Amino acid sequence: MNLAHLLARTARVFPQLNAVTRGEQELWSYAELFRRAAVIAGKLRGVYGLQAGDRVALFMANCPQYLELLYGVWHAGLVAVPINNKLHPREVAFICENSAASLLFVAGTLGGLAGAGGLVGDAGAVAGRAPGLRMLSIDTPEYRRIADGATIDIVPRAPDDLAWLFYTSGTTGQPKGVMLSQRNLLAMSLCYFTDVDQATRADSILYAAPMSHGAGMYNFAHVLVGARHVVPASGGFDVAEILALAQHFGQVSLFAAPTMVLRLVEHVATHGSDCRGIKTIVYGGGPMYLEDIRRALDVLGDRLVQIYGQGESPMTITALARQHLADREHPRYLERIVSVGVAQSVVEVVVADADGQPLPAGVAGEVLVRGETVMQGYWRNPEASAATLRDGWLYTGDVGVLDDDGFLTLKDRSKDVIISGGSNIYPREVEEVLLQHAAVAEVSVIGRPSAEWGEEVVAFVVCRAGLVAPPAELDQLCLQSIARFKRPKNYVFVAALPKNNYGKVLKTELRRHWTS
Ligand code: AMP
Repeated sequence: MNLAHLLARTARVFPQLNAVTRGEQELWSYAELFRRAAVIAGKLRGVYGLQAGDRVALFMANCPQYLELLYGVWHAGLVAVPINNKLHPREVAFICENSAASLLFVAGTLGGLAGAGGLVGDAGAVAGRAPGLRMLSIDTPEYRRIADGATIDIVPRAPDDLAWLFYTSGTTGQPKGVMLSQRNLLAMSLCYFTDVDQATRADSILYAAPMSHGAGMYNFAHVLVGARHVVPASGGFDVAEILALAQHFGQVSLFAAPTMVLRLVEHVATHGSDCRGIKTIVYGGGPMYLEDIRRALDVLGDRLVQIYGQGESPMTITALARQHLADREHPRYLERIVSVGVAQSVVEVVVADADGQPLPAGVAGEVLVRGETVMQGYWRNPEASAATLRDGWLYTGDVGVLDDDGFLTLKDRSKDVIISGGSNIYPREVEEVLLQHAAVAEVSVIGRPSAEWGEEVVAFVVCRAGLVAPPAELDQLCLQSIARFKRPKNYVFVAALPKNNYGKVLKTELRRHWTS
């Protein structure tokens, strides 16, 4: 088994189909993408001397080369280490050192490591920390010649062999390398068809979110069917560009974090844009609040599907299908659309108590997952692996509750639960209420240390342009719908919430507000 066979198969069956574009510009057919990957594989083995199982890191914004490099790496029997392109060189250095990568591909000049926002630091910082690491920029003549030469055969791999080393965002402590095997990624890809969407060769997948993360993992399902891979020329998330590309190609699917969906919705609502070119928007990676999902469905139509996953079981824990989001007459419609849906077909999902014993429907506990997509463990970190994988179950660290029909509703990450005066408060519940205020654009609720209560509730609020949300009105909203003790003790009005490259709110940074 080798994921490279997915590309080989499509290249044989549909050689002439357009595989990759940069914006509207068609670059390579499937036959050409496969040939390029097979030559790159030859270079990685021959010129760079890499052996099966060696790690190759990628640190760059979304670009067409991402795909040829990923497939070149797998074709050669190597392991890809895609790195969030917004990371600081010190963090990149940590990942290269920790993964013992042999080679790092970057964009831009080597004098500085180019992130999406331009040069972010000195390559020396990486080289100094990870000696023996070789670096190659995709913007050099050497790289431009990378697809000239002889092809090699696909190097065979076993199902449990490592394919992708995915570094967690490390909002607490150092990032950990999640070991994803060939089999994990194949199982995840097949779930796309059973639980997320039907894909066909008339479709295009548009990389609006970072390819180093879930969006990039959705490449496999689309390679399998011979769909087109559209990489926006900007390499980032630009709503106007995405809508123009969707109109140009039609039948476009994309993965977007909730914050990206909100931006899309705002743009379409304000400009009356045509979004008929969009077939499916898969959203997930963070909570989507009730008001936001209802508005998204109103503005964008029944184009949305939700997934819940984490690096440790990538994109594949539960899914909320298009038909559930469209079933407005269902008696439990509102509960369902704030849920994350039902277990995807290759995994079992239970909610368990602190001893790992399954809890009945309606009772909150930790979400556990077992199945084909669950990681092999953390790279060279047996303690963290043993703490997270127990008796064959992945302990997700998410708190959730199942209903009688198997729909899972997430409360929060267990570390984000606020314990105030001995009572548990789920920030999301408070956030949902505050978002009902017309002036509130975004909100994030955290616990602040308190001598009296242990922790007390604080809300960070971003107001819509030109509007204000007076604390007294926010208090009133809370008093109308949640217990008194859950009401924020303090509202902090900010221009924006701190987020990582994947659009997740960094609650750790908000908590630092009082400690730094
Ligand atoms: P990561 O491993 O960086 O992808 O982060 C995974 C975490 O994001 C999960 O453990 C959840 O806490 C959160 N998450 C992912 N998908 C969803 C979703 N659909 N709704 C709410 N939270 C989510």
